[in-house]
Amino acid sequence: MAVERTLIILKTDAVNRGLCGEIIKRLEGKGLKFVGLKMAWLDEKTLREHYAHLASKPFFPDLIEFMSRSPVVLAVVEGRNAVELVRNLCGVTDANKAAPGTIRGDLALSTSRNVIHASDSLETARKEIEGFFKKEELFSYKLSNSKYLYAEDEL
Ligand code: UDP
Ligand code: MG
Repeated sequence: MAVERTLIILKTDAVNRGLCGEIIKRLEGKGLKFVGLKMAWLDEKTLREHYAHLASKPFFPDLIEFMSRSPVVLAVVEGRNAVELVRNLCGVTDANKAAPGTIRGDLALSTSRNVIHASDSLETARKEIEGFFKKEELFSYKLSNSKYLYAEDEL
């Protein structure tokens, strides 16, 4: 399994419900490395592009309004198989059906207000990271505990 980077967005419900620390704690606790972290107030144009694949859905206007109500927290996390791993840690889109133990399963109960976005493929992750983060906002460094997170042959 390769080391990957993936984009997460802590949505306006996470910010307004005071859940950002809890969500970051879970990802940090898992052993994922934060290589970029910032707050931004996403404008309508950016959100329309980010969710372009959902433009024809009936919930699209609500989604854009919900995501532009307040600033959000954006982060890039790195780790082995990070794209799939983070999606699994988030749980399924409908938080009502998300498994207990997952971020959505434990912290949300709605299909739309589901606290976190995570890139859904390596290709999407690459595009989303490039779209939301400047090069100088991303950091390459070694965690001092990396030998306790991975075996030699996993790095
Ligand atoms: N969404 C919604 N209603 C739906 C499905 C999705 O409001 O019936 C919202 C929800 O916030 C979701 C986002 O649109 O996270 C993007 O949908 P997608 O299918 O990409 O789900 P995700 O990748 O976030 O699990
Ligand atoms: Mg998606």
